[in-house]
Amino acid sequence: MTADTSTLLDKAQTLCDSRGARFTAVRRKVLKLMLEASGAISAYDLLDGLKATDLSAKPPTIYRALDFFLEQHFIHRVESQNAFIACNAFSDSHQLQLFICEKCHDVQEVHSPQIQQSINDQARLNDFQVKTQTVEAYGLCHQCRLD
Ligand SMILES: [Zn+2]
Ligand SMILES: [Zn+2]
Repeated sequence: MTADTSTLLDKAQTLCDSRGARFTAVRRKVLKLMLEASGAISAYDLLDGLKATDLSAKPPTIYRALDFFLEQHFIHRVESQNAFIACNAFSDSHQLQLFICEKCHDVQEVHSPQIQQSINDQARLNDFQVKTQTVEAYGLCHQCRLD
């Protein structure tokens, strides 16, 4: 486990404690798998990963954990891949954009206030109330362009 992973797991624990939310041992294991995954990970792959240490793991275990993490803003859904990534901030609810590498499948989370502002402005112009939004850009990351 990298220092980063254990720091983030501790942060998740602290946040759950302060919010009165239950960060169970299984949820901790699932979040660890997500933090260690390169790129987005599907519920199916998470179940496989969990079964490595927890043979009795069932799909509802994963779905409940994912719902919980989404509620706590620990993870984000990658809509175009029907998969999930661990958040890089673990802060309160926030808008984000994703850069997805087609070669190594790395997913970078970025936060552009300008993009957010443009969407809000357009919504106002169209008298539209935005509930959720997805900005996912596909291409090549820095490393893959060097290879
Ligand atoms: Zn985030
Ligand atoms: Zn790449």
